Amino acid sequence: MADVLVIGAGLAGSLVALELAQRGAEVELLDPGQGDAATALSYGGVPWWAGASGPMNELMASAPAAWRQLEQRHGPLGWSPCSLRLHWSDADAEPAAETDRAAGGTSVLEQTLAGVEALARRHLRADQVERLAPSPALGSRRMLRLEYGRVDSRRLALALPLALEGAGVRRRRGRCGPLQAGALPAQQVVLAAGAGCRALWPALPDRLRVSWAGVLALEAGPLCSQWLGGSALVEPNDILMPLLAQRQALEQRADQLQRPEWIVDAGLAPWGEGLLLGQSSLIRPGSSCGCPPEALPLELELRQALGRIDPRLGQLDASFVQLPVSFCSSGPPLVGPVAGEPGLWLFAGLSAPFALAPALAVLLAEAISGERRALERLPGASTQPSSGWG
Ligand SMILES: Cc1cc2nc3c(=O)[nH]c(=O)nc-3n(C[C@H](O)[C@H](O)[C@H](O)COP(=O)(O)OP(=O)(O)OC[C@H]3O[C@@H](n4cnc5c(N)ncnc54)[C@H](O)[C@@H]3O)c2cc1C
Repeated sequence: MADVLVIGAGLAGSLVALELAQRGAEVELLDPGQGDAATALSYGGVPWWAGASGPMNELMASAPAAWRQLEQRHGPLGWSPCSLRLHWSDADAEPAAETDRAAGGTSVLEQTLAGVEALARRHLRADQVERLAPSPALGSRRMLRLEYGRVDSRRLALALPLALEGAGVRRRRGRCGPLQAGALPAQQVVLAAGAGCRALWPALPDRLRVSWAGVLALEAGPLCSQWLGGSALVEPNDILMPLLAQRQALEQRADQLQRPEWIVDAGLAPWGEGLLLGQSSLIRPGSSCGCPPEALPLELELRQALGRIDPRLGQLDASFVQLPVSFCSSGPPLVGPVAGEPGLWLFAGLSAPFALAPALAVLLAEAISGERRALERLPGASTQPSSGWG
């Protein structure tokens, strides 16, 4: 029997498995391998400068160094510095309410723009935060360019199996059934199954929720190179996002939802030699994962939103794919021991996981191996001591 069984081989499970193996644990990583990991269709954006203060944000700021270190150890994983381009048009600006305007009030758009610039400038040099000059190529779009980082999710998905094998992690194909209290299948078990965690252990905090994400995946080919070659919206390695992205706000009001709600955000990110386009997010009331929502209305609205930034984008021959993604509707991510079940750990519900997972995987591996100080630094930790895998 392995010292540690990690359930789920997405970003969270793979990174913690690598860290545990690095510390000398015998690790088994269980995953059905059916391509339903959110990790494989992610923009992989690393907003390392986006935290304000506090321990989680220090971890976030360490993300570029953490990815470089992972690559030194395991070979290329798809990390690269890049630019984030935030786009908007004047039509997005809701005029400030009369009373606000009388008091010199600003629109949501102006407030957001000022907030993002101020946040970025805490870490970035002046020349790394740039409002692009209006140009005929951008039409009515405006653009803010910021230094950023990304992990190419397609390259990561190809590289991880080799990295895990090289580190001595034993990979097993299969879907784990619900776990039984007092009868864990290994001395230490890490739930890193993303949206599948609750099916394995129903008594997880209510704030661990699931959103259904939809994205258009465009494979490499002439269509993709033609669009990239002729576009003034992005440079080839950049991520494009709406300044007024709506996903985060929807996640924050998840606990108040009375019926399913969805939004679309028009952006794009490189994906190997192909492209990922847009993101729809649908959240239902309650905490269960449920089945994928009806695709057609989401795809149509996503294509319309993309068409507003470039008419050719909405018409590209890309496949609409939906995946469940775990998130926390409030509070910090759930990374730490599961209360009441010694030996059971949870690694789920991260916002900005591509920035936070590398550092949290190190802390979690240390805590699982019995390091008390690491346990105390975990955001979702109770004071329950770990018995360690050794
Ligand atoms: C379009 C899109 C864009 C995104 N953009 C960003 C971004 O720019 N930056 C960022 O940080 N994040 C982004 N995200 C979010 C991020 O990709 C995910 O939150 C993250 O990849 C989740 O990783 P995970 O390992 O927790 O879960 P997953 O990647 O979903 O992996 C979970 C794995 O567990 C397996 N599993 C489930 N149930 C079981 C079971 N019973 N037994 C065994 N295995 C099981 C699944 O098959 C899956 O392989 C984006 C997501 C999407 C969809």
